[in-house]
Amino acid sequence: MEELDTPVLDNHLHLDPANGRGVDAAREFAHLGGTHLLVVNKPSWQLGVEAETGMDFRAVFDETLETVAAASEVLDGRAWPVLGVHPGLMTRLTDERGFSPAEARELMQAGLDVAADYVADGRALALKSGRPHYDVSDDAWEASNAVLKHALSLGADRGCAVQLHTEETADLTDVAAWASERGLDPSKVVKHYAGPKLDGPTPSVMSRKEWLREAAERGDPFLMETDFVDDPDRPGAVLGPKTVPRRVRWLRSEGYDDAVRVAHVETPESVYGIDTEATLSRGT
Ligand SMILES: [Zn+2]
Repeated sequence: MEELDTPVLDNHLHLDPANGRGVDAAREFAHLGGTHLLVVNKPSWQLGVEAETGMDFRAVFDETLETVAAASEVLDGRAWPVLGVHPGLMTRLTDERGFSPAEARELMQAGLDVAADYVADGRALALKSGRPHYDVSDDAWEASNAVLKHALSLGADRGCAVQLHTEETADLTDVAAWASERGLDPSKVVKHYAGPKLDGPTPSVMSRKEWLREAAERGDPFLMETDFVDDPDRPGAVLGPKTVPRRVRWLRSEGYDDAVRVAHVETPESVYGIDTEATLSRGT
């Protein structure tokens, strides 16, 4: 296959070596020309972790670190871990485990505190938080926003980016303002599973051709992702691990070379402080 001669980053996917394809998915990504991955920990409950304290999330985070190390072995570039607490845990705790929204908030914030420790000592690159993308009670919504704000504060303290899972929207200026108030540059807040246009944070665009074309035409900073979930029970739930390198080839063929550089070199540098070119060992 023709070499791509550019870093190729999937900004958000999951790898599940126990139940899914794990590192084989990273291998497939690399085979198509993918070079860098941001691997996000799976929701704690999907790994059988019913957390009682913040420290209980360590089992989830440590598994992601191991997977990231293994994935880095098969990449010409490398993988980095993004750690946090899935916003869906709010519902899981309140509906199935008898937590009040305030108690759920406390546990989720404690989990984020632990994730921030991993960022502080260099084991993780960024944090992951958000709020439900489906309707919840006012109390649960308020508690979820408190968790999200806590994540933004931690991002400001640690000087790291925060990936967010939120409702479907092209306007997150409310969240951008919360970030600014806490001393976190809104450009370091990344909306995962984003469309091509977003006011406020940086969009991590789902790699559908029409969305990528629009993002490329706009010329604003953006990232590309698949949200591959590596779940054998949901094979068609999201885009597969080959998608980002394939779409990079397609963008190139359509003449969007500048956008490829924006999404795979410039935005990763400005948002996460990572150098996807210097960390590329191809040909050396
Ligand atoms: Zn995801």
